[in-house]
Amino acid sequence: MATCLCNHPQDTDEIQHILEVARDWALTNGMVFKPDASSAGQSQAQCAPFSLFPSVVPKQIFQQAVTCMKDFNTLMYRVAQDHDFLERALKSVIKVDPFVRGLWDIYNQVREEGMAQPISLDLFRNDFMMNTSDKKNITSAGIPPSSALQLRQIEFNTIAASFGGLIGAATHLHRYTLDLAGKPYTSSEMPDNDPARGFAAGMVKAWELYGNPDAVILFLVSGIESNIIDQRWLEFKVHQQNSKIRVIRGTLLDVHAKGSLSDDKKFILDKSEVAVVYLRTGYGEDSYTSDKEWSARLMMERSRAVKCPTVRSQLSGCKKVQQELARSGAVEGFVEDPKAVKSIRDTFAGLYSLDMGTEGDDAVKLAISSPEKYVLKPQREGGGHNIYGEEMKKLLEEMGSTKEREKFILMERIFPLPEKNYLIKSGIPLTLVDTVSEMGIYGVHIGDGDKEHLNNQCGHMLRTKMEGTDEGGIVVGFAVLDTPYIV
Ligand code: ADP
Ligand code: MG
Ligand code: MG
Repeated sequence: MATCLCNHPQDTDEIQHILEVARDWALTNGMVFKPDASSAGQSQAQCAPFSLFPSVVPKQIFQQAVTCMKDFNTLMYRVAQDHDFLERALKSVIKVDPFVRGLWDIYNQVREEGMAQPISLDLFRNDFMMNTSDKKNITSAGIPPSSALQLRQIEFNTIAASFGGLIGAATHLHRYTLDLAGKPYTSSEMPDNDPARGFAAGMVKAWELYGNPDAVILFLVSGIESNIIDQRWLEFKVHQQNSKIRVIRGTLLDVHAKGSLSDDKKFILDKSEVAVVYLRTGYGEDSYTSDKEWSARLMMERSRAVKCPTVRSQLSGCKKVQQELARSGAVEGFVEDPKAVKSIRDTFAGLYSLDMGTEGDDAVKLAISSPEKYVLKPQREGGGHNIYGEEMKKLLEEMGSTKEREKFILMERIFPLPEKNYLIKSGIPLTLVDTVSEMGIYGVHIGDGDKEHLNNQCGHMLRTKMEGTDEGGIVVGFAVLDTPYIV
């Protein structure tokens, strides 16, 4: 049974009115996609998909997610620096997954020749769901006690973490829809949220550390970017914070065609020296359709430009690394403070290696015997790659005890508490539906060997989908932008 946490209005005229205002509000305030936008051309803006009202998140759970972020930033920065750990964690995957091997080869080549830039910038997003072990355990107000929910990490994004721009607008949109629906809220229930400001501050600081006032920031993007406005929010906030910094945009093919390294490894693109490369592409196989893209990535990695992220930071975001970090003693190897270790570990779900051997065999058996309780995850980003239920069972049976299964990890399936909301996106009628949410916490980190120049938690996002939908991406069409209503 789904809870109706906000007792949303159900009168059709009232809802239709709120929706019309909300749509225009989203268009007016840049909460938009540009479907089919090419980086050079123009196209019409459309509202990004959104929920009409915010979704309830218990205060204690929200605080827990926010509070552990700086510890996660440090952990993941250190993981990326630890060659032996990365090699141990990824050695099985590299053998069977050509994409991860492609990244690994770049990382290794640059490591052996010596990294030209010790400083790295990371713009992270740590994603969580609230697992409910007991759906009946709801108070009369429809609000679950925090003891009935457990915060569980879904994954840690180290590359191209999106929606830091659009989501800032969502808080204001939802304050408006609550006002229209006559629902009071306080600033602690609907707190300010501006992840793009924190991300932009990271870029500005990295640019300053690079130390050439004439150098630019390159946003590395794909040719077609329907989520371009999310990136523009960051670009414009960089400009707000330092109007001297020029941001340029380019693709991997542009870098291949027009980029070069100077003798002292400056990265020059179209006559501009690049201080910081911010990757919003390059996280999936489709970004590398030929050797040209791979060689562009290698050139940037070899350069003195500050990379966001470095290839090793991208690798540290692999689901395989997440699973290896869940092993007993692994986090402790990177983080000294036992309180910090606990705050990180407390969010871990069950994670299982599928490497050859009895441990992997046991995990396969577990998943085949209860497919509804697990998710099979490959080393991919951007949504739409996980395998669930009967399909997972069938695949595991087919892969049997071949090395093919080492491409994947197995994860305990999380079951969030459903909540009623209106999801505004094409193809969904305007009715109250049962929804579940995933919460992301944004982090910004600048490291320089053992030194941390910057380590901040800088905001949050919520994305919500219909209950029963397996995947969760917004750009790929499963979920909508949302805001936590913190009670
Ligand atoms: P990606 O890097 O492709 O975003 P994720 O690990 O975030 O991969 O998985 C994609 C989506 O699948 C998530 O947004 C979430 O909706 C769903 N998902 C992932 N892991 C789990 C899990 N353990 N339990 C329930 N749903 C999950
Ligand atoms: Mg991801
Ligand atoms: Mg994800």
